Amino acid sequence: MTDRPRLSKSRFLSGSQCHLRLWHDFRAPHLAAETSDALQAIFDTGHEVGELACRRYPGGRFVAQDHQHVEEALEETRRIIEQGVAPALFEAAFEYQGLFCRADVIERLPGGGWRLVEVKSTTKLKDVFVLDLAFQLRLLRGAGLDVRDAAVMTLDQNYVFDGKHLDLDRLFRLHGVFEQAESMRDTVAEQAREMRSLIASDVAPDIAPGDQCSVPYDCPYFAHCSRGQATLDHGVRELPGLHAKRRDRLRARGIEEIRDIPAKFPLSALQRIVRRAVREGRAQTHGDIRREFALVAPPIHHLDFETFAPAIPRFAGTRAYDPIPFLFSVHSEREGSPLAHADYLHEGKDDPRPRLADRLIEAVGRKGTICTYTNYERRVLWELIRALPDRADALRNMVARLFDLHQVVRRAYYHPDFRGSFSLKNVLPVLSPDSGYGDLAIADGQTAAVRYVGALETADDAQRQRVFDDLRAYCARDTLATVKLRQALSRIAEPAGSA
Ligand code: SF4
Repeated sequence: MTDRPRLSKSRFLSGSQCHLRLWHDFRAPHLAAETSDALQAIFDTGHEVGELACRRYPGGRFVAQDHQHVEEALEETRRIIEQGVAPALFEAAFEYQGLFCRADVIERLPGGGWRLVEVKSTTKLKDVFVLDLAFQLRLLRGAGLDVRDAAVMTLDQNYVFDGKHLDLDRLFRLHGVFEQAESMRDTVAEQAREMRSLIASDVAPDIAPGDQCSVPYDCPYFAHCSRGQATLDHGVRELPGLHAKRRDRLRARGIEEIRDIPAKFPLSALQRIVRRAVREGRAQTHGDIRREFALVAPPIHHLDFETFAPAIPRFAGTRAYDPIPFLFSVHSEREGSPLAHADYLHEGKDDPRPRLADRLIEAVGRKGTICTYTNYERRVLWELIRALPDRADALRNMVARLFDLHQVVRRAYYHPDFRGSFSLKNVLPVLSPDSGYGDLAIADGQTAAVRYVGALETADDAQRQRVFDDLRAYCARDTLATVKLRQALSRIAEPAGSA
């Protein structure tokens, strides 16, 4: 052992993203932003999936000592391996030349040697997972373990739960990455050496925020790193869909502001509209809103779903991360009548979809346009059609009546205060300044899903009811928002028509 701190695999991955992130992890972790409910939910899902994955290895042994008992965990790992009985170890601890890791699974192979398995709660293999395994592979081999295979285990989205028995062999999928991880051995060793010198230094590396702050993960030090930075008026990052190479070309010429982009610089049609809006300091109506709205027929309904997406399927016919709608809100505009509202929140732990679909069919009937903001509601409706064939006819009728206001805004209108985003949260305050979400306890879909799942689990009835009320208020605000948005766009279209 050396007197330098150990470099764990999570720190190694931090350092691979950004050396300053790694340095902060060791020297100033208090500067990290607090873990949000949504991020905590992702961590919790990771644990849940990890525990389930262990059940694929009957007779496997868990190394239980936590991070405050590293020496004991190393000793326990050695002891179980030397006994030569356990077919697999979970959370086995290894150390080699100042590198340290807890391996999710090491599995004894029938022909001798071990397979190293990293369990991930996603459905796709990512480059960063291979890097993770490459680090562990080097470490375990260095520590003397005969590792002959390495794989990433993810959830398999092709597996459909029958509602009775979770088939773990089909729920999980192994991606063999041994050769790939092996080929990264020297690079990993070199990077780890560099990182160990870095964390021994009292001086923080001089790194400015950039693309690395969100790839492959959102960095928790972003608020700290970007404090005091000169804020741009309308920075080039506001240009929708600007390719990183083009952004680098602009940066190389010292151009940070949209208004300074030369006329000849290659931009898409939408990017040119954004530049014009910024330069002129006013909105651009660049499409024919009236023509877009010619397709809208009364009564005009506005629909929004809230969904949760369990990693481990809970209901018959669903796969990992299938979105399950648990709440809808519908506002309906009828000429000569006040705005009407209907909603449904499923309050039980059973499958919400049948009852929710029935209530939705009642709420929107068979006539009129159904406005949404983005295509998400269409996707959820198609999932309902697949899951509920006996209601497919009425649900298909709804799909045929959908009208996406998001596309109208994208195709026809831009205001510099959108700041390059067409999300409802950016567009609404501009087009309907008295609208917003600031007064709500729940103000985004991710939080809504997390709170719903939490409310189903709590034994506190009053708390559960409070969350249900907050969820209803949030979803209703979303459909009220699209009512106001449609009305605002109609007003823009009416006096002058298209620009
Ligand atoms: S915010 Fe960006 S620059 Fe700062 S530590 Fe994180 S990745 Fe590095």
